[in-house]
Amino acid sequence: MLLFFTLGLLIHFVFFASIFDIYFTSPLVHGMTPQFTPLPPPARRLVLFVADGLRADALYELDENGNSRAPFIRNIIMHEGSWGISHTRVPTESRPGHVALIAGFYEDVSAVAKGWKENPVEFDSLFNESKYTWSWGSPDILPMFAKGASGDHVYTYSYDAKREDFGAQDATKLDTWVFDNVKDFFHHARNNQSLFSKINEEKIVFFLHLLGIDTNGHAHRPSSRDYKHNIKKVDDGVKEIVSMFNHFYGNDGKTTFIFTSDHGMTDWGSHGAGHPSETLTPLVTWGAGIKYPQRVSAQQFDDAFLKEWRLENWKRLDVNQGILPVDYLNNTDLFKAESMFTNAVQILEQFKVKMTQKKEVTLPFLFTPFNCAGS
Ligand SMILES: [Zn+2]
Repeated sequence: MLLFFTLGLLIHFVFFASIFDIYFTSPLVHGMTPQFTPLPPPARRLVLFVADGLRADALYELDENGNSRAPFIRNIIMHEGSWGISHTRVPTESRPGHVALIAGFYEDVSAVAKGWKENPVEFDSLFNESKYTWSWGSPDILPMFAKGASGDHVYTYSYDAKREDFGAQDATKLDTWVFDNVKDFFHHARNNQSLFSKINEEKIVFFLHLLGIDTNGHAHRPSSRDYKHNIKKVDDGVKEIVSMFNHFYGNDGKTTFIFTSDHGMTDWGSHGAGHPSETLTPLVTWGAGIKYPQRVSAQQFDDAFLKEWRLENWKRLDVNQGILPVDYLNNTDLFKAESMFTNAVQILEQFKVKMTQKKEVTLPFLFTPFNCAGS
């Protein structure tokens, strides 16, 4: 009887421990050689706007008078760029959402043990691979991409979230702070020679993290005037920033703009789970290297939303958050093929590193390499 009990306890213990071994061990590997596409990129710089907690339908739908609450972005969809839905994964939280967007992978759950705050594992990111990145926004989001970066080339500018009243009365302040600081930054750069030459380099990124909509959604729910008014504010801000960029760089056509969000929000103002209101986020992109609007009479991604948004005639391109969206690229087939090839070689690099690691910790007679050639 005692033996039976001990055995049962042991089995439970092994199963319990295996959960941690399987799910709470980072699958990330390190030491891969970064791969690059040999062809010249269409853009010199990227401007990435992430409107935290913005639901796709809240951006795309028309109000009771048939007007868009984001007229600038809607105009982009109809006249300048490409659009669609970016499908996110659970947990629909800011940190894993941003890691998927900026580092290109779904963060392992071991991050949850550290409250999704500290970097549980080192990881590479678009920002780290850029020449320089300047980022503005919440102190909860920006540091994780600067911390993991090698060398001093990812710059962060955050408001002091602990200062009791910052954005507490009116959360749109979190967004106007970002827009104002980006404008000041460029104003300052005109009189600062070293900064001026840095922002005229290639391979640079500007990241604007906008936390107002998420904050208003939690406080007042997405159906509130506050949430909807915040979308209008963000649309106004994006319009100003885009015009400033185009003016600053003399309309050189070398800037790519991306507008998206990290996750959505339920009707009652929460997120984290997998309801469509949480996983459907907007994606609008335009500028260098991006396809112009495509008029269509039939859509690949057709659902009740399209008619409701009155966007049924503009080709909708859905993607999964974090994956190379080839359909959005306005470039030669050669460039697309090279990009996909680079992507594949980079994944192969991971496999090689992983195999070497496995080999090192496995007894020789137990190690059987995966047969790549197939049968
Ligand atoms: Zn939130």
